[in-house]
Amino acid sequence: MDGFFTCRLTFRQKGAEIYEAKDGFENMCGYCRDRGYAPVLVFLGLASISCRIFEMAWPQGGKDMKRKVKQLLLTAAGIALLILVVSSFVILVFFPDMLPSASKTQNEASKELFAMDTYITMTAYGRDAETALTEAADKLAALEQLWSVTDPNSDIYAVNHGEGHPIRVSEETSELVSFALQMAEETNGALEPTIYPVLSAWGFTTEEHRVPSETEIAELLGNVGYERVRLEGDTVQLDNGMMLDLGAIGKGYAGDLVAQVVQENGSTSALLNFGGNIQAIGTKPDGSRWRLGLRDPFTGGTLGVLEISNMAVVTSGNYERYFIGEDGKQYGHIIDPATGYPAESGLVSVTIVAGEGRLCDALSTSLFVMGLDKAAEYWKQHPDFEMILITEDGEIDLTEGIADAFTLDSYHSNMRVNVIEYE
Ligand code: AMP
Ligand code: MG
Repeated sequence: MDGFFTCRLTFRQKGAEIYEAKDGFENMCGYCRDRGYAPVLVFLGLASISCRIFEMAWPQGGKDMKRKVKQLLLTAAGIALLILVVSSFVILVFFPDMLPSASKTQNEASKELFAMDTYITMTAYGRDAETALTEAADKLAALEQLWSVTDPNSDIYAVNHGEGHPIRVSEETSELVSFALQMAEETNGALEPTIYPVLSAWGFTTEEHRVPSETEIAELLGNVGYERVRLEGDTVQLDNGMMLDLGAIGKGYAGDLVAQVVQENGSTSALLNFGGNIQAIGTKPDGSRWRLGLRDPFTGGTLGVLEISNMAVVTSGNYERYFIGEDGKQYGHIIDPATGYPAESGLVSVTIVAGEGRLCDALSTSLFVMGLDKAAEYWKQHPDFEMILITEDGEIDLTEGIADAFTLDSYHSNMRVNVIEYE
C-alpha cells in the first residue's frame, strides 16, 4: 500500500500548467498553403513549357498565325489554370482524403495514456506517426517499470531497499541518477533527489497530510543528502534509511527519451504532453511554431501564450499539490531541503524552456526552491535555458531570450512584466 502511494508521489500529475493553445484559422491557412501551392506552380510550369515547345516546333510559321495560336494557347491555359485552382481548392480543403499521397505525408496520429501517474497525450505527424507513437508508449512503459518506486522489480525499488548494499541498475537508471546528482550539485542542493523521508513525513507520499514537529524534521534531514549517494558504473548504493525520489526529474527525463524514439521513427513534428511537461519536436506540420498556453496559477485560466519550436517546457509550482494545515496555512509539495519545510520562496510558478526536458524538469523544481533573485543569478551563470517566473505578488519575471515568444493574455494586461537581462 505504501508502495502504491509512493509511486503516486514520484510521478505526480501536475494539472497541465502548460498545454497546446489551439488556433483554428492559423491551422487552416497552413493547411491550404501546404496543399494548394504545389499543383498551381506545376501547372504554370507546364503552360510555359508548352509555349516553348510550340516555338521550337514552328520557328518558320507566319508571324500573325504564330501570335494567334500563342494567344489561343495562353487563353486556354488561363482558363484551365482557373479551373484547376478552384477545383484543387475545393478538393484539398473539403475532400483531402481523395489525395492519398498528400494525406499520407501529413498523417496525424494521437495517443492518450496514463503512465508515471500522469495523463499523457502525444500527437505526432509524418508517414509513420502511428508506429512512432506505439513505440513511444512502449518506451514509456519500459521506463516506468525501471523507475517505479512501488514495483518490487524496478531499479529504484531495489536501490531504495538495498539496505546499504550496492545495487546493479540499468543504463537508463544509472544515467538518470547521474543526472540527478549532477543537477543537485549545480543547484547547490536545491534539487535534492534523496528528499523522500522528509516528504513522506509531510504525508505527500500517502495523501495523509500532517505537519511534522521540528525535531522530527531535523531527525529526518539526517537521512537526506545527495552527496552520500554512491554511483559507480552501473551500481547505486545508499546509506541505510536513505531513499531516492526522482519525481522532480523523472517525467522530464522520460520525455527526452520518448521524444528520441518518436524522432527515430521518422516523425519530425510532434507534441508530447506529460501532464504539463511539454516536449515539442520540430514545428507544427505547417512550419509555424507550437502555441502553448501557460496556466494562470491564481485563477486556473490562461495567463499567456508561449510560441516555441523544438523545445521542452516544464512548469513547477506549490499550488499544484498542497494541503491546508490545522493552523490554516497552505503547505506545498516542493520541499526546501535546507529547512525540510515546503519552499516559501515568494514564487508561485516557475516555467523553464530549454532544449532538454530533463534540464527543464530539474530546474523548474530547484529554481522554485531558490526564489526570484537566486534563480535570476543562476540563469545568468547558466545561459542554456529561459524561464518565466510568477511571483506571489502577481508579477511576471521572464528572461530576455523568451520575452518575444511570450504574449500575455489580454485579460492579464494589467500584470507587471519584468524582463531579466544579462548585465
Ligand atoms: P516537480 O513537479 O517536477 O516540481 O517535482 C516535484 C516533486 O519532486 C515532488 O512531488 C516531490 O516528489 C519531489 N520533490 C519535492 N521537493 C524536492 C526537492 N527540493 N528536490 C527534489 N525533489 C523534490
Ligand atoms: Mg521538476
